Amino acid sequence: MAGKLRIKKGDTVTVISGKYKGKRGKVLRTEPATGRVVVEGVNIVKKHQRPGRGVMQGGIITQEAPIDASNVLFYCSKCSEPTRLGAKKLEDGSAARTCKRCGEVVDR
Ligand SMILES: [Zn+2]
Repeated sequence: MAGKLRIKKGDTVTVISGKYKGKRGKVLRTEPATGRVVVEGVNIVKKHQRPGRGVMQGGIITQEAPIDASNVLFYCSKCSEPTRLGAKKLEDGSAARTCKRCGEVVDR
């Protein structure tokens, strides 16, 4: 299915293009509507923060900005390689994601 995000929150991914190429991190958030993901330590931007509700003090904070999901690949801990994901139907009828390289079911 085109545009469908296979990457999920909590996945470990490797960045495959751009400034952060080669960097590995954990997916903090996915944005299925825009096809983007937020990866820990990747695409850090500075942001001005005003003191307000829930914010103790103002100043410049850094945080991860979303990147396009096409710029990352799932990192398979079994292969120790970035890999594409496949899908597999389990015996109970539910769908699981698999590593296309080693065939391992990667869903927990
Ligand atoms: Zn694998």
